[in-house]
Amino acid sequence: MKTVTILGATGSVGTSTLDLVERAPGDFRVKALTANCDVEGLAAAAIRTNAELAVVADESCLPALRDALRGTNIGAAGGAQAVCDAARSGADLTMAAIVGCAGLSPVMAAIEQGGTVVLANKEPLVSAGDVILAAAKASGATLLPADSEHNAIFQCFAPDQADRVRRIVLTASGGPFRDWSTERMRSVTPEQAVAHPNWSMGAKISVDSATLMNKGLELIEAARLFPIDPDRIEIVVHPQSVIHSMVEYTDGSTLAQLGPPDMRVPIAHCLAWPDRMATPMAPLDLVAIGRLDFEAPDVTRFPALGLARRALDAGGARPAILNAANEVAVAAFLDRKIGFLEIAAIVADTLDRYDPPAPQTLDDVLAIDAEARTMAGERVEDCVN
Ligand code: NAD
Ligand code: MG
Repeated sequence: MKTVTILGATGSVGTSTLDLVERAPGDFRVKALTANCDVEGLAAAAIRTNAELAVVADESCLPALRDALRGTNIGAAGGAQAVCDAARSGADLTMAAIVGCAGLSPVMAAIEQGGTVVLANKEPLVSAGDVILAAAKASGATLLPADSEHNAIFQCFAPDQADRVRRIVLTASGGPFRDWSTERMRSVTPEQAVAHPNWSMGAKISVDSATLMNKGLELIEAARLFPIDPDRIEIVVHPQSVIHSMVEYTDGSTLAQLGPPDMRVPIAHCLAWPDRMATPMAPLDLVAIGRLDFEAPDVTRFPALGLARRALDAGGARPAILNAANEVAVAAFLDRKIGFLEIAAIVADTLDRYDPPAPQTLDDVLAIDAEARTMAGERVEDCVN
């Protein structure tokens, strides 16, 4: 029996995690569940799983949460600090599934208490990689990657053969605009951008998948998680999303992990690790899939990929600025304040204008993140006016 806390329990990854936990009631007990302000979804999940605690990050939603939990033994709390306290609830395993750098302080809290921290929430790792890895080393926490590509690499990467790895091949679906011209992408709407061909995900990561910034963030994520020179991490577009990534060894062997495009597969791997657990997934029907295609990514049509690669190579504060500006630009695009192509333009502009020293501490990262958001926000306003 493992105790589990889910940060971001009402989102796409959060509900997939709950689905698996609820299918194996003898194997998991829920300690805390958190959400931003989806009181209904959070309270329903807390009641179904008999959680000890439910937390809303948005404190103004706490009275409604208390109402929804009246007559139960489930504790209720609200505010950013309460989310961090929930992350320190003493669970054996904490699923980090908040979206964006809003998850950074909770992830740090979970890591500092030790135990297993499953990282779906990739933005903290991009912005604060060194700080997070140092904290995990200090506390002895085990970090497991739930992002499908990184989970695939984790399954194929033999740590004691790290110096025999020639390449990591990170696969990308290419998103909904894989074969669109730049001109055609100019008038893309939020509805078109969030309609991913293979995966059902939250709005922010869906837009990132459409700009290929998601693959850029994942490139940085892979460089943080695996001991390999970033030059040896290659990106290949694979539209079917059947191979989730590959590891190539010096002897010419390439190991790949395959599976349906359903996050419950990598999440289950993390929940059960180092064991395996059953999932409701149908066996992979390779005959029905028929063929697997691969092509090189186009950094001219998808400039976010080049921006991310350069931010990784330059290091220091660059990845945190890239991520913060992207979060602001994606939110503005979803709000219909800017066009689709302006997302990468605002990220590039913020990187051009802001060059602080490398962050050393969590507070340094949070300050850089805040300043980059302000600068990107100014550019959004320029676009609006
Ligand atoms: P989502 O938008 O569906 O859910 C986000 C969750 O975070 C919700 O529970 C929401 O209430 C909570 N949240 C939002 N803002 C918050 C805040 N300020 N403070 C506290 N909680 C807040 O997102 P998602 O698609 O589930 O993605 C979550 C994370 O997992 C992202 O970092 C994403 O990149 C990563 N990820 C997602 C998928 C996927 O298939 N959805 C795959 C790989 C990685
Ligand atoms: Mg991914």
